[in-house]
Amino acid sequence: METTLENPSPPNRTCDYCGRPISGRLDRKFCDVNCKNNFNSRQRSAFRAGVHPNAGQIIKQIKINYEILLKRQVQKIEKDATTYINKEQLVKDGFDPRFFTSLTTDKWGEIWKCCFDCGFREIEDGNIELAHFPKQAEL
Ligand SMILES: [Zn+2]
Repeated sequence: METTLENPSPPNRTCDYCGRPISGRLDRKFCDVNCKNNFNSRQRSAFRAGVHPNAGQIIKQIKINYEILLKRQVQKIEKDATTYINKEQLVKDGFDPRFFTSLTTDKWGEIWKCCFDCGFREIEDGNIELAHFPKQAEL
């Protein structure tokens, strides 16, 4: 068994195939061998269809990121307002800053990553700054 501070296991682990909660070994990813086989066959057909096999998981992570950002940002939604959150806390909640939907630059030239209309920016002191960018969610 191996855990590191950089990669804490998410508090609620779920099966990569059916999404039901799983317990047991930390590296366990599926409820049982059926879910594992179904997962692998879905990965193979996704690959043949020109979809990256991790697409489902990455889209799921973007949705989780959005939900977390929205929850943290909802009280500070007025124009030009920003808010600061401890990065470690966000990661503990399940946030993964590697995945987002777009990039934008503010009027001061700072680059922001966005999950839809929720922008975030890692700053040096271990915090993440959050701001609202409604245009990033327009088509
Ligand atoms: Zn399962």
